[in-house]
Amino acid sequence: MEQLPVSLNLKGKKVVVTGGSTVAARKTELALRAGANVLVVTPELGPEFPPIAQRYSSFSHRSGSPVSEDFENAVIVYGASENDEEDRRVRELARARGALVNVPDKPELCDFSMPSILDRSPLLIAISTAGTSPLLGRQIKERLETTIPAAYGDLARFLGGIREHVSTHIKDNRQRRYYLEKLLDSPVADLVLAGDEARARKLLDEQLAGHASSGDGSGAGSGIGEVYLVGGGPGDPDLLTFRAMRLLQRADVVVYDRLIGSPILDLVRRDAERIYVGKMMNKHELSQEEISRLLVKLAREGKRVLRLKGGDPFIFGRGGEEIELLASEGIPFQVVPGITAASGCASYAGIPLTHRDHAQSCVFATGHSKNGRLELDWATLLQPRQTVAIYMGLAMLPELTRDFIAHGANPEMPVAVVDNGTRPNQRVIIGTIETIAASVAATGIKGPAMIFIGTVVRLSETLGWFKPVAEPLSSSTKLRTVNPAENAKY
Ligand code: SAH
Repeated sequence: MEQLPVSLNLKGKKVVVTGGSTVAARKTELALRAGANVLVVTPELGPEFPPIAQRYSSFSHRSGSPVSEDFENAVIVYGASENDEEDRRVRELARARGALVNVPDKPELCDFSMPSILDRSPLLIAISTAGTSPLLGRQIKERLETTIPAAYGDLARFLGGIREHVSTHIKDNRQRRYYLEKLLDSPVADLVLAGDEARARKLLDEQLAGHASSGDGSGAGSGIGEVYLVGGGPGDPDLLTFRAMRLLQRADVVVYDRLIGSPILDLVRRDAERIYVGKMMNKHELSQEEISRLLVKLAREGKRVLRLKGGDPFIFGRGGEEIELLASEGIPFQVVPGITAASGCASYAGIPLTHRDHAQSCVFATGHSKNGRLELDWATLLQPRQTVAIYMGLAMLPELTRDFIAHGANPEMPVAVVDNGTRPNQRVIIGTIETIAASVAATGIKGPAMIFIGTVVRLSETLGWFKPVAEPLSSSTKLRTVNPAENAKY
């Protein structure tokens, strides 16, 4: 993290702005809106200041050049004279007095940066780029402007106003959070957003009275929690679904394994418990059954349990087994699909899994062996005009490619190995069935890795980025045509 975002309470505190320009006026007004006493020190005030001075009694101006005493007791200082030398001098004076300094558009002179602010007071959304690109921050803010209704400020105020009232009715912290979360999706919130707080309040009181008479006062029924079996995708957090994101914010406890990287774990609610049940090859830390029992136990404690799996939980993820026990124990659960490694890695490597000229089908198989022997259905794998995507095959790549050839595959069929697909350290190694094992061994990659076999792999030359990029393919990209008959040899 480049910087720590905090929301500063400036009410009644001193802020100093040096300079009389538009930028200085904007900083002055922001600080005044936050309740600060603002002293502007400059020989001359620009035309934007008089209306500000009129509106805020906490505004004052001292004409002249800044001196050390101006900064006495100041909490923050904006050096906005737009004169480099002067701003540096102000910075030294202000820092000597213990104030934090911001010089607009001069990140190297700043103790803190100013975020772009979406103001739905008391709800504030601040977007910081740590001074690297205020323009980008503003663009994100514009997008949010259109998606966060103005009435969210009213909703925030309403929720603040009922906090204590709800606490007296629902004492248990967790149950209260459940209730308030549900409230956000309920007609009470709709009424507030529609501007009818009186009716919202009446409905709320009815609901709370109902909870009180329903016994435990929790409104959470039997008190059993819930399990979310969530696919976390292959690694790039941008590939999470909206639902996964929402549930990551809701869960009380997250049970995750090795494939989940820290960029995704960072999205888990800060105070949620995290339990690692990672599995390394032949080094099981918790057996599948133990994991299932753990999920049941946590849910029985009334928790919302998020079981976070790499890729998609139902594709080589043993998700089915994990929820069998939940189903038989009557624990409520939901499954959230994720982008599976085959799909994520193929896209980021520029390999279309199907293509009119190359492959009309795609098979997902696992190269994981039992007792060192591959048990693959060769008749299914060796079909013409087909792409084969192999999970967990890296360790057995020499045996795998040898067996492909032994079962009649064309040794020159293209193969791609995508290591750490969709992550910043993604690597793509391209070869043929005959050559790929040696090429991969030479790189020393450790996985996780996907193996793709089929003529679609050749398209990665033109479509491949070999590193994660967010932009869609431009429509002008030409696909190299490959003779489809080549696949038939396969
Ligand atoms: N449920 C997961 C697969 C779990 S099996 C899914 O749908 O993707 C684990 C295998 O997935 C790994 O051995 C590797 O073959 C593949 N895999 C997972 N993440 C990957 C990544 N970021 N890059 C390449 N392969 C990955």
